[in-house]
Amino acid sequence: MREQFEVRDYDGAGRIGELQVPRADRTVETPALLPVVNPHVQTVPPKTLETTFGADILITNSYVLHGSADLREPVLKQGIHELLDFSGAIMTDSGSFQLAEYGKIDVDTEEILAFQREIGSDIGTPVDIPTPPDVSREQAAEEQARTQERLELAETVDTGEMLVSAPIQGSTHLDLREQAAREAYGTDLDLFPIGAVVPLMNEYRFADLVDVVAAAKRGLGENAPVHLFGAGHPMMFALAAAVGCDLFDSAAYALYARDGRYLTVRGTEHLEDLDYFPCECPVCREHTPAELESAGKTERHRLLAEHNLSVSFGEMRRIRQAIRRGNLFELVETRARGHPAVLDGYRTLLDYADQLEETDPVSKDAFFYLSEDSARRPAVNRHHDRLERLDVPDELWLTTGSTGDDGWRLVPPFGPVPPALSDVYPLTAELPDRLDEAAYRAAVDGVSVLAEANPDTSMTVAHDGWPETALAELPERVTVRPLGGHREE
Ligand SMILES: [Zn+2]
Repeated sequence: MREQFEVRDYDGAGRIGELQVPRADRTVETPALLPVVNPHVQTVPPKTLETTFGADILITNSYVLHGSADLREPVLKQGIHELLDFSGAIMTDSGSFQLAEYGKIDVDTEEILAFQREIGSDIGTPVDIPTPPDVSREQAAEEQARTQERLELAETVDTGEMLVSAPIQGSTHLDLREQAAREAYGTDLDLFPIGAVVPLMNEYRFADLVDVVAAAKRGLGENAPVHLFGAGHPMMFALAAAVGCDLFDSAAYALYARDGRYLTVRGTEHLEDLDYFPCECPVCREHTPAELESAGKTERHRLLAEHNLSVSFGEMRRIRQAIRRGNLFELVETRARGHPAVLDGYRTLLDYADQLEETDPVSKDAFFYLSEDSARRPAVNRHHDRLERLDVPDELWLTTGSTGDDGWRLVPPFGPVPPALSDVYPLTAELPDRLDEAAYRAAVDGVSVLAEANPDTSMTVAHDGWPETALAELPERVTVRPLGGHREE
């Protein structure tokens, strides 16, 4: 069971995976972006998504087709791939979004799954109950139980080769999200969307989003592909990938375009505020903002949507490359410097360093220390855990200077480094000369861990001007000396 998703590489909880979509006879590499296609209004034709942007998979709404006077018969007759003119994998949503917006819909899970199968969808979705953020625990629990009933009902529907998603609800109650994930994973359904998080993303509540996704991840096995339902803005793709999201759908490329909004990995710009396009895509190379402003409405929407897609697909490739190289944290940290809301999300992500460490590779290419947030990365955690298990001499000299024969190096933000580990990741980290206090404090924490694990060892810290405020955190029995020219001083 669940052989359709395989993880190839990890970085933190971020991963490159392969999702087999049997009905489409496709393997989709993740993290993947699924452009949302409105069957009635195609800002960018699905064929162009495939040929120009390299989309392997898209998502459209089966509920809209089901209730459409002009498209229902054609889609039943031709099938969804022919109707949209798209040969990749097609995922279909069920109308849950409409349920959240309008309070009621007129199909149930069995009917919509049968319809999705009939129109040739490759990944179908049952009708779950999308519980918004911040509702009472009682409401969230009651609705989550009803969602779970529908997932169990979906299990009994004959869906053939079509994969079926199992949305995870639970609002902003983290224990419920985790429980919902565990129960969803207990079914034999295939794909796990994190549901009803669009309000969090619309309000840039990325810290809450990270809490919700991290909770859901704790309830899921590693072979569960996770879909962030309604993820639209490329500025948060790297953050969401780092907490373990594999599939992202985006309606934002088209919705924002219709509003004259221009997506960047650092946030959103309004076309009328731009004098120059800060981008290398064909649209931005071949046009100026003024030209786009004066273009006709349809042309402007299409061009802006194409730019928005270029940025979104480009960021997705960058994320995959970062995971492959092992520098996804550096990418997220860079994105966090582009927008304060992403910074909040990144700092929340680092609250889960223990959880991320479970899948974070022991060895990577390099560790770049980029800000005080780097001091909280899982690699620092892991080194501190390792310090508890190392053999130490009876007398230990920890120094930022030359170690001599029997000393250990002292390296912010990691702390004590035995000679045998000196050339091993992450202790080969690239650090700025002008370190922040967080780096020293994390190193001091490392010394404290070592001192606690070895109560009989006498320890001396010899430092070159470390801040007193950080040194004050050392256990009292550790001797502190400013470093002169010689260790004897
Ligand atoms: Zn562009």
